[in-house]
Amino acid sequence: MEYMHASLPVEHNMLCFDDTPALATPDLHQQVLRTDVSGMPLEWINHNEAARLICLERVAYSLGGIIYTLRGGINAITGQQSTLAINAILATQGQHPISHLFSKDYTPPLSNRALFKRDQNLCLYCGLRFQDRDLSRDHVNPVSKGGVDTWGNVVAACKRCNNHKAGRTPEQSGMQLLAIPFVPTHAEYVYLQGRRILADQMDFLLTHFPRNSLLRERVKQAAKQAD
Ligand SMILES: [Zn+2]
Repeated sequence: MEYMHASLPVEHNMLCFDDTPALATPDLHQQVLRTDVSGMPLEWINHNEAARLICLERVAYSLGGIIYTLRGGINAITGQQSTLAINAILATQGQHPISHLFSKDYTPPLSNRALFKRDQNLCLYCGLRFQDRDLSRDHVNPVSKGGVDTWGNVVAACKRCNNHKAGRTPEQSGMQLLAIPFVPTHAEYVYLQGRRILADQMDFLLTHFPRNSLLRERVKQAAKQAD
């Protein structure tokens, strides 16, 4: 084993197979935003996947601050330990067709987690904020009346409001919807899937939201409230 290590001439190779945890940041849960080569946001990846893409030379360029510095192997010749810096945003060369993600007809998959984040964890009937576990998916036009299970017909609702509304439309139940349900674009969906998004990642994502994005307004309002 020692012989194999010593025979690896390139520092880079050793980095790619070393699993040593990060030096700079003890928190390994921070996600890296992967984009395509033109900068369209694709998905969140972890530090291992980011390191793999860098080692495979799939990263065309990187943006944002350095969030990980991974420790590599010791170079047999120089005796120096190599490191690998990973930025907040990595633009990668694509191998799979992704253009469908950015077509007008694209609809991201519907999940409660993304739905509740779209609605900022507010019940869109009583306007109160809840944790995910206390929210439910309400079909504005009820399924029993032919309503469909799609982004445009669902909102976050607390269990109390959802029970009260039951199998009725908002009009029939005398309840007013506080915001319009909408279908997120792929870039907005990437935001909805993010956990603890860094400021530079957020700024980058916002530039890819559609011009008339309802989500942008909600995000801005939430940021103001947090200040
Ligand atoms: Zn409610």
